[in-house]
Amino acid sequence: MGPSRCPDERPSIGHHLADRPRNPDRFRTTFRAGRGLRHADLTSERDQAGTDRLRDLASSARLQDEYMPAVPPSTRAVVFDVGETLVDETRNWSRRAELVGVTAFSLMGALGALIERDEPHSRLWELLGVESPGMEVSLDGADLYPDALRCLRAIRRVGLVVGIAGNQPAGIEAQLRALGFEADFIASSAAWGVEKPSAEFFTRIVGELACEPAAILYVGDRLDNDVLPARAAGMRTAFVRRGPWGYVHAQRQGVSLADLRIDSLDELAAIMTAEQGRQAN
Ligand SMILES: [Mg+2]
Repeated sequence: MGPSRCPDERPSIGHHLADRPRNPDRFRTTFRAGRGLRHADLTSERDQAGTDRLRDLASSARLQDEYMPAVPPSTRAVVFDVGETLVDETRNWSRRAELVGVTAFSLMGALGALIERDEPHSRLWELLGVESPGMEVSLDGADLYPDALRCLRAIRRVGLVVGIAGNQPAGIEAQLRALGFEADFIASSAAWGVEKPSAEFFTRIVGELACEPAAILYVGDRLDNDVLPARAAGMRTAFVRRGPWGYVHAQRQGVSLADLRIDSLDELAAIMTAEQGRQAN
């Protein structure tokens, strides 16, 4: 393990919230609270305006009262999954449908069936009776969820370490940096030679950060690849309900194991910057 990237000093996060007693009904509380914070409300605004609004939301009594986030004050780093957490994969899956000659609707419906059956998406081509298009992933700015860059910037601004690590092909690191992501590390399963949900993948994250697993919050849209293995590795977890896995997995009992359950990264940014927002008022 190399030198720690985790700051010794505790960054100012919403510890006044985390110290509150946990709400046993937190699952519903979180999603209900999230309605006020959907990124659709923010996408028409310029980035700075969005950031200002986040601060306002974070400091509002309503948010502080409704959220019972379980992010402990010892959190030093936030590490993000890529697909359907930062990146909206709709365009890439639609392109694959086009290449294999089925409608996007058919491909996505079939993908949903695999997700529900806990089968890997690599089985999709067999289910559709076509050859895999073998397509490389290429991202452009329109593929990013509108809250992705804003969330990472907000979280870094309060002094937390930020990482990006997902099951992705080689070259994704450069693509993400080119799209404006600034992180303390960006890694992929291709570069590491291990993929989620293996324990080794999460051990690599801990190695990159050189801090206690419990000081890391891993953020993802899947139970099987994100929340459960990160939790098994000793990390805190945030489950983002978006994308096809997110909506299906949100119906499962296991989702209650996530420390945070949110509908957008704007919500995550609001939680992590809540203390700063409170101080600003
Ligand atoms: Mg994902």
